[in-house]
Amino acid sequence: MTGLDTSSPKSYRALHSRHLDGLLRDRAGFPEPERRRAQAVAAVFPFRTNGYVVDELIDWSAVPDDPVYRLTFPQPGMLSPADATRIERLLGGGAPAGAVQSAVREIRLRLNPHPAGQRDENEPELAGQRLPGLQHKYAETLLVFPRPGQTCHAYCTYCFRWPQFVGDPELKMATDGVAEMRAYLAAHPEVTNVLVTGGDALIMSAAVLRRYLEPLLTVDTIEAVRLGTKALSFWPYRVLTDPDADDLLELFAQVVRSGRQLAVMAHFSHPRELATDAVRRALARIGSTGAVVRAQAPLIRGVNDDPRVWERMWRDLTRRSVVPYYMFVERDTGPQNYFAVPLVRAYEIFREAYRRVSGLARTVRGPVMSATPGKVCVDGVAEVAGERVFVLRMLQARDPELVGRPFFAAYDPAAIWLTDLKPALGQTDLLPGLSPS
Ligand SMILES: *Cc1c(COP(=O)(O)O)cnc(C)c1O
Repeated sequence: MTGLDTSSPKSYRALHSRHLDGLLRDRAGFPEPERRRAQAVAAVFPFRTNGYVVDELIDWSAVPDDPVYRLTFPQPGMLSPADATRIERLLGGGAPAGAVQSAVREIRLRLNPHPAGQRDENEPELAGQRLPGLQHKYAETLLVFPRPGQTCHAYCTYCFRWPQFVGDPELKMATDGVAEMRAYLAAHPEVTNVLVTGGDALIMSAAVLRRYLEPLLTVDTIEAVRLGTKALSFWPYRVLTDPDADDLLELFAQVVRSGRQLAVMAHFSHPRELATDAVRRALARIGSTGAVVRAQAPLIRGVNDDPRVWERMWRDLTRRSVVPYYMFVERDTGPQNYFAVPLVRAYEIFREAYRRVSGLARTVRGPVMSATPGKVCVDGVAEVAGERVFVLRMLQARDPELVGRPFFAAYDPAAIWLTDLKPALGQTDLLPGLSPS
């Protein structure tokens, strides 16, 4: 039913930090000091890319300004000058591996590896046992981080899940507990959605993914299965010519036949990622299974901080029957200082793009901060009782009472995150019951 893909198989070629120097020398023509700085950044933040990204997505003649280059290759400003110099000296001076590792770890721990209290506050329990690798923050949705799914076909420079990939078990969330997941869902009928994420749900083989998905189909209260993935952008051959591509698509169809929505939660950051023949064929193949593809991405300085980029992307997505879902604000972790866009600018970019697309694309909501109390949308800037304010709204909240309630914060052109905002109009809290952190 999914149709055969007759194109010749493409084999996945992973590129890691040991390939970085060669790529920057041969493709970008960078001199040595720039390559050294990139290597220092790649010692702190995960770096991984592949042949498809390097050969088909990046326009090397436009480097260092090319958006997909900025999206996937270490950028010098991602570390403070002091941290970058320190790591460069350690790497260049032949320091023992232990000294490099402890400096790297010290820097990482300063970069808020687990924003929004995700590990301490969202990890559920069953019969007094904690269930690591699951997160249950909003009543209707359970997040699952399968241990075999905790990598991606390429890493985004701004990735808010960066601690998943740095090889530090104390920073990582993961589970092998398929039986515990099922038992938890049976005990929690309020959960209607499961989001398999990571990492990337489609890094797993179809056989491994099936081990996580089939038990969900035995729980009546589950209405939708979501798969968080960047594969359509970074390795569309995952559903075209990978050896288990047909099996994977059959698994999607099986979920649909069970009377549930299979939602591929795709991550498209730039229209370039939608421009190849491979991604178009991949989207068509997924569509033929009855699965729905939804698209979300953060707004990132230097990559997509331009309303024309979002307008183009939402139009191209709509043309391919992909549903625009969220525009996120860059989260308060890792290289946030380098990639963040002020909230007021994020709102302007959203609105400029939103007003130029048809209602079919206005399914998108944003800009949204996924913060400790919940998902907070910046609805606008207004003048209320002579005071300039941000108009905000909770799209999701740890406390469901707060969902959908508008509230205000003092206008601040420099604010980049919820924790920068102050109450407005004489109130003492942003919203009764809500503190920003
Ligand atoms: C965003 C998010 C979800 C899903 O929210 P939807 O609005 O249903 O897409 C679930 N859990 C957590 C922790 C999230 O951040």
